[in-house]
Amino acid sequence: MVFGLMSLCMHNFHLLAAIVNQGKLLSDEIIIDLLSKRLEDAQTKNETGFVLDGFPRTLRQAEILEKVTDIDLVINLKLREEALIAKCLGRRICSECGGNYNVACIDIKDNDGSQRMYMPPLLPPPQCESKLTTRSDDTEEVVKERIRVYDEMSRPVEEFYRNRGKLLEFDLPGGIPESWPKLLHALNLDDHEDKQSAAA
Ligand SMILES: [Zn+2]
Repeated sequence: MVFGLMSLCMHNFHLLAAIVNQGKLLSDEIIIDLLSKRLEDAQTKNETGFVLDGFPRTLRQAEILEKVTDIDLVINLKLREEALIAKCLGRRICSECGGNYNVACIDIKDNDGSQRMYMPPLLPPPQCESKLTTRSDDTEEVVKERIRVYDEMSRPVEEFYRNRGKLLEFDLPGGIPESWPKLLHALNLDDHEDKQSAAA
């Protein structure tokens, strides 16, 4: 189950731009235009790398992106479908302050009990508790359809980068605390983090 594609340029692994999460609203041309401007901007500022989160989403975007810049690596973040659905159905928004929370507590064990996946809920503070709302389209039926559409759209994009030897498949072992160190390790960047935390 695909959770998200991350395209990564890691000359120096600087996290720079989270490019809009609005692929559906903006045309490919506008996105690429914004992206090109941002990349030119980065050059003038001597920035040497960037991460795109959730882009490209379609094969066409990937093809255009290839003409604009060199992507070093694409990470395919995968989450077990049952966890993904539970997380989507657990989303809550506070109608007063707009805060985003998640009431889903995910605790999945494999049949043989060897692999446990635990993701704690992100609970609201007391003042928001009575004001939580659910997005009307966060129903199991709609979520499953969204996943199906995403899967269908992203498969050719994965294939595009796999053919170029640039696709890293990464199975998320749980939430951010479990996933982050393993992801750094998969990218051979765990030394980097040691140095950072030693310096901190
Ligand atoms: Zn609130």
